[in-house]
Amino acid sequence: MIAPDLNAAVAGLTRLIEQSESVVPFTGAGISTECGIPDFRSPGGIWTKMQPIPFDAFLASKDMRAEAWRRRFAMEDEFGGAQPGRGHRALASLYRAGKAPGVITQNIDNLHQASGVAAEHVVELHGNTTYATCLDCAERYELAWVREQFEHAGGRAPDCRCGGYIKTATISFGQAMPEAAMRRAEELTLACDLFVSIGSSLVVWPAAGFPLMAKRNGARLAIINRDPTEFDDIADLVVREDIGSVLAPFIAAT
Ligand SMILES: [Zn+2]
Repeated sequence: MIAPDLNAAVAGLTRLIEQSESVVPFTGAGISTECGIPDFRSPGGIWTKMQPIPFDAFLASKDMRAEAWRRRFAMEDEFGGAQPGRGHRALASLYRAGKAPGVITQNIDNLHQASGVAAEHVVELHGNTTYATCLDCAERYELAWVREQFEHAGGRAPDCRCGGYIKTATISFGQAMPEAAMRRAEELTLACDLFVSIGSSLVVWPAAGFPLMAKRNGARLAIINRDPTEFDDIADLVVREDIGSVLAPFIAAT
């Protein structure tokens, strides 16, 4: 059923949540656009103008690693101050109320954690861009430190003390999906009785398989997204209204 308007959307979602024991939200870029973070994959998005740097190119070339970091610092200047939006805050409310055991996200912006969901309960399928790790030993490095080293070395990316390359903790194109996160996402999906996909076009596999997995396992499925998705036909509720407006009523006073 496609909600005909905002009121019907909120009422439908309220009913589904009330009838559920375990709600698992699955979020994509659409939940963060009201925070000022653009959807890089959308038409006109950054990635249609500037090719992302694939993982093998990052590994193969010092210049590519420097370029990757230059772009990351430019993004930090533009979006680094982004704060959680209404959608993030609503999901954090469900989490605090014990209604949602965790959040699965395709986003790398750390805004679920910033809204109050414990880091161990945010399953990041594409990693996290707000810090860096060594590709060899997994040592964590903060962005500010990397930038200081980078600028001090005249635009050369620093390496780890073990000699490995330091990269944002994201999953680049061509990089293997994070196994632990995929496994946890599957566990959450199979344990929920309501799966809510929010702001994802559900086209990137294998992540897009989760709504289908939930539905086949007997959970109900709600899809909140500006544009139609290929799973709308099997969803119990489809909402094409503004995400922040739909979720705002679920923000609890803390
Ligand atoms: Zn290392």
